[in-house]
Amino acid sequence: MSLQGKVALVTGSTSGIGLGIARALAGQGASVMLNGFGDSAQIEVLRAGLAAEFGARVAYSGADLSKPAQIAAMVAQTEAELGALDILVNNAGIQFVAPVAEFPDEQWDRVIALNLSAVFHGMKAVIPGMQRRGWGRIINIASAHGLVASANKIAYVAAKHGVVGATKVAAIELANAGITVNAICPGWVLTPLVQKQLDDRAAREGRDVEDLKHAFLTEKQPMAQFSKPEQIGALAVFLCSDAAATITGAPLSIDGGWVAQ
Ligand code: NAD
Repeated sequence: MSLQGKVALVTGSTSGIGLGIARALAGQGASVMLNGFGDSAQIEVLRAGLAAEFGARVAYSGADLSKPAQIAAMVAQTEAELGALDILVNNAGIQFVAPVAEFPDEQWDRVIALNLSAVFHGMKAVIPGMQRRGWGRIINIASAHGLVASANKIAYVAAKHGVVGATKVAAIELANAGITVNAICPGWVLTPLVQKQLDDRAAREGRDVEDLKHAFLTEKQPMAQFSKPEQIGALAVFLCSDAAATITGAPLSIDGGWVAQ
C-alpha cells in the first residue's frame, strides 16, 4: 500500500483509462476523487464499490471540465472532503474525427477546451496546495498523438501535443518543489472512446467490428494488441512512487511500439 495517506483526483474516471487509474491508485491505499459523466445511480455504485473493494475513501465530483470555474470548485471540493490533493491525473478527453477543411469550429473548441485547456486549469488549481505541502505528482494523459500525428484528428493531435508541452513547462517550474509532472502517452486502449471510432468505421466501410480491430491496431502499432486500462494505472502508480521521484517533464510511451517507427 505505497500510497496510503495520499489523496488523488483522477478526471474522467467514470470510464476507460481514468477508471483503470483510479482503481490502481485506490489499490495502493490512496483516497480518490472520481470525476466524469454518466448515470448518477451507476456512478454511486461504482464509487461505493471501489471504496468497499479497496477499503479506500472514494468521493465523486460531476464537474464539467470544459468549464474552468468547475475545475477550481472540484479541486476545492477534493481538498475539503478528502483533506488534501497530492496526485492529479488529468485524464478526461474526447475525440472528433474529420478532415481539416471540414472540421466543425464548435468541435475544435470542444476538444481543445477539454483535452488541453482543462489540463492547464487543473494544474493551475492544484499547484499552490502541492507547493504548501512540499509533495505532488501531476500526471497528464496525453497520447501517442502527443508525439506523432494521424490524419483527420487535428484538434486531438494539436491538444495532445500541447499537453506534452504544458507538462514540460510545469515540470521545469516545479523541479525543486517536490512535485513531478509527467505525461503518459498511450497507444490504443480498448475503451468506449476507441470503441466508438471502431463502430463508426465498421458502419462506414460495411465491415465486421471484430475483423476491423486487427487492422485498426496494426495500421499504427507494431504490437497487435491493445494496452489495458490497468496497465496505464500501473504506470501511474509507478510515477507516484519514490522510485520515480526524479522522472519529470517526460512523455512516457505505453503504445506497443507506435512512436518507435
Ligand atoms: P472514455 O471515453 O472511456 O472516458 C472519458 C472520460 O472522460 C469519461 O469518464 C467521461 O465521462 C469523461 N468526460 C468526458 N467529457 C468530460 C467533461 N467535459 N468533463 C468531465 N469529464 C468528462 O475515454 P478513454 O479512452 O478512457 O480516454 C481517457 C484519456 O486517455 C483521454 O484523454 C484520451 O485522449 C486518452 N487516450 C486514450 C487512448 C485510447 O486508446 N483509449 C489512447 C491514448 C490516449
